[in-house]
Amino acid sequence: MRAGSMIIPKKSLGQNFLHDDNIARNIVQSLALQSGDHVIEIGPGKGALTKLLVQKTPNLLAIELDTRAVGFLQETFGNSLELLQSDVLAVSLSRLAEQRSARFKVVGNIPYYITSDILFWLLDQHEAVLEATLMVQLEVAQRFVAGPRTKEYGILSIFSKHYTEPRLLFKVSRNSFYPVPNVDSAVVRLVFKRELPVCDDLLFRNIVRATFGKRRKTLRNGLKYMGFTDDQLRSTGFDLTRRAEELSPQDYVALSLDLQQFKEQVTLAFS
Ligand code: SAM
Repeated sequence: MRAGSMIIPKKSLGQNFLHDDNIARNIVQSLALQSGDHVIEIGPGKGALTKLLVQKTPNLLAIELDTRAVGFLQETFGNSLELLQSDVLAVSLSRLAEQRSARFKVVGNIPYYITSDILFWLLDQHEAVLEATLMVQLEVAQRFVAGPRTKEYGILSIFSKHYTEPRLLFKVSRNSFYPVPNVDSAVVRLVFKRELPVCDDLLFRNIVRATFGKRRKTLRNGLKYMGFTDDQLRSTGFDLTRRAEELSPQDYVALSLDLQQFKEQVTLAFS
């Protein structure tokens, strides 16, 4: 019996292992790796993607939390794989990028229980990332690419479109994994923008989050909750009786610029 088959999947670690080699090949081919590319794999698990990635690049760093999987990967790949046993969220991509004078192509069939955390971990370190190709829940993939006035449009859509050009590459059936999860999946590519729209990042994030708060139906309600006064809000060129889901990411940038002068007078609850 191969050691990999002895790893009993742990739900708490989001372990649904990919067993469809065609899907793995499609993901790795879609990266179109060049000799100088630096690649980071999140959650290599039993190596479904890793075994293909090591053939394509000498500059691969795989980050895995589960010690059982780390042991298996070490045995399987030996020195041909640089492996870090860690919670991916504790890893500083910025520091790694500085050490290696590189920006990374990130890839992973990621653990779904921390999808949003991984997205924000990437966005917070956007200078270190060229692109991220991620297997996520289909529903989340649809939110990444959704446009205004659709039911999928929300905070994830705005943030992903503000920092990146998101693209849904292809859908993946739940039957491609063991154990079979109760959702289908999709592979998305986030190509990080070289230059971001100019506005105060923290204020932008706070305005997006506050206005999408469930009970605050109009933009005005969300903004007043942050502490902006009626006079300050009137000074913007926006119709604030509209709802958050009607604004594009560019509208949010414009709104943040209009309100930037009052930033010191409001509460920024989100980092
Ligand atoms: N890449 C493998 C595949 O495609 O079969 C495994 C994918 S599985 C959905 C997610 C992997 O992420 C598991 O190997 C799990 O142990 C690992 N993982 C879970 N939480 C993690 C964390 N916080 N940091 C790093 N890896 C994590």
